[in-house]
Amino acid sequence: MKLVIAKTAGFCMGVRRAVEMVLSAPGHCQGPIYTYGPLIHNPQVLEMLAKKGIHVLDEIPDRGTGTVLIRAHGVPPETRQELEAVGFTVIDATCPRVIKVQSIIRKHASQGYTVIIVGDRDHPEVTGLLGHAGASGRVVSRMADLESLPVFERAIIVAQTTQNKHFFEAVQRWAAEHHPHYKVFDTICDSTARRQAEVSRLAREADAVVVVGGRSSGNTRRLAEIAGASGKPTVHVETEAELDAEALSGVRCVAVTAGASTPNWIIKRVCRRLETLPVERGGAWSQFCYQFQQTLLRTNTYVAVGAGGLCYACIQLLGYDRVLPLVLLAALYVQSMHVLNNLTGQKEDRYNDPGRAHFYQSYRFALAMLALASGGLGLLMAFRAGTKPFVVLVVMSLLGLSYNLNLIPAGSGWRIRRIRDVPGSKTVLIALAWATVAAFLPALAEIGRIDAAALLVFAVCALLVFARTAFFDILDVQGDRIVGKETLPVMMGEAATLRLLQAALVLSAGGLALGALSGLTSPLALLLVASPLFLYLVFAAHTRGRIHPGVRLEFLIESHFVMTGALAFFWSLMK
Ligand code: SF4
Repeated sequence: MKLVIAKTAGFCMGVRRAVEMVLSAPGHCQGPIYTYGPLIHNPQVLEMLAKKGIHVLDEIPDRGTGTVLIRAHGVPPETRQELEAVGFTVIDATCPRVIKVQSIIRKHASQGYTVIIVGDRDHPEVTGLLGHAGASGRVVSRMADLESLPVFERAIIVAQTTQNKHFFEAVQRWAAEHHPHYKVFDTICDSTARRQAEVSRLAREADAVVVVGGRSSGNTRRLAEIAGASGKPTVHVETEAELDAEALSGVRCVAVTAGASTPNWIIKRVCRRLETLPVERGGAWSQFCYQFQQTLLRTNTYVAVGAGGLCYACIQLLGYDRVLPLVLLAALYVQSMHVLNNLTGQKEDRYNDPGRAHFYQSYRFALAMLALASGGLGLLMAFRAGTKPFVVLVVMSLLGLSYNLNLIPAGSGWRIRRIRDVPGSKTVLIALAWATVAAFLPALAEIGRIDAAALLVFAVCALLVFARTAFFDILDVQGDRIVGKETLPVMMGEAATLRLLQAALVLSAGGLALGALSGLTSPLALLLVASPLFLYLVFAAHTRGRIHPGVRLEFLIESHFVMTGALAFFWSLMK
């Protein structure tokens, strides 16, 4: 089954901004912290926010302390005044585009215009807009409502920002024909218009459409209506658990879109589930292959094979003789550290990859033993390789083990108490650790020092692994943000991180070319330029929507290091 994910699926600018504002509130704003109404209709997110001390305020109490965040939908002016009057500090996260509609309404209402709002009467945004219109506000949800209104001397028509574009166009035509003196403002947000246009196009191209998002979310329901109007089978689900395999049986191409308040980890989970449907329907062999692929990834065995491949390529680049113990060392160390990392990272995996979180929860003891065994064997290999590699690996293992430990005591007033708390540390440390075992340890074992060639190969490896890890961070950004993990995309934004990792790939390609042309490394370096190029193409394919997040994308990225090792192996055979 081919999956096409809408480029516009997921958080819009206004919702993303509100989520970021509320997540940065603890520590900066006076507690307790509330959102006025649920920020997102997702119980897991609300539970996590509650653990961070951010609760939902449904009704305004007689007296209040702390901070209240107004959601992207906005509120009537009286609600804000009331919140302040009872004692709350108010943070206004109303979307700037909703604020623009509120201003149009206020301006015209104060000039005596009747304000006709085209929207869902009970939607919080419409309640807020109505509050700005005062007594002159009217809400219409259907053409019949509009036609039943009296004729006004002066009136404006505005739309709820997430209103159906086609319906509003019909309203515009009606106004032009019957009441040309009414002023019509098309206040449908670009993001909504683009999302609706895209689902309409995808519904024509695909065999079925899956719309992901809350049933109480008006804009999600409208996406489902638009897709359904195309005549193609349309399934509206809140989570992956609601996907009906039967309803999608025989479908060759399915389009997936999501409402403006649907977190991307829920979209990812739905896609992962869709990815498994053909496997479930397939025979025992395809199920075995899928399970095998997933187990290799979850136990980090495939990652370890990749690390071994990268180390092998480094050894060939540097022209060393000793291969096997160092390749095994790299593979065992990387597997040990990645399994440990997954064992301690289940909190974010609950969002980013619930299957992996469940796997690590179910096999916790066995996986801890696997990490210990591979770590111990790695040390044994390092010991056999020489004193220097052994000492370096011991130091790195201790650093890896202390990554999650509180090194600074509680109550010291320091925000950063663990290495893990240093923003972006995971991505950088993983890159440095891989590059050390792949390039530095072979150099220490073979020549007893780090020369210019080893430094260059180290830099190339670090840049490649950095690009790989930062890309996974981009895929996990919303789950990481929710649990408060400060990865590079959380700090810098996804677009800036993508540019950074593209630059890392270009630099690594440059480093390889430099190594070959200067004679610092073997000519294999020129062939290995294919490695950053391959990653670049995979990232580009993902950015253009050609490959979606899931087991296949993960496997493809990890295969890149296996491919690097294979290229080096064939080159060594041809020498
Ligand atoms: S849909 Fe548009 S107007 Fe509404 S919150 Fe999102 S960005 Fe703002």
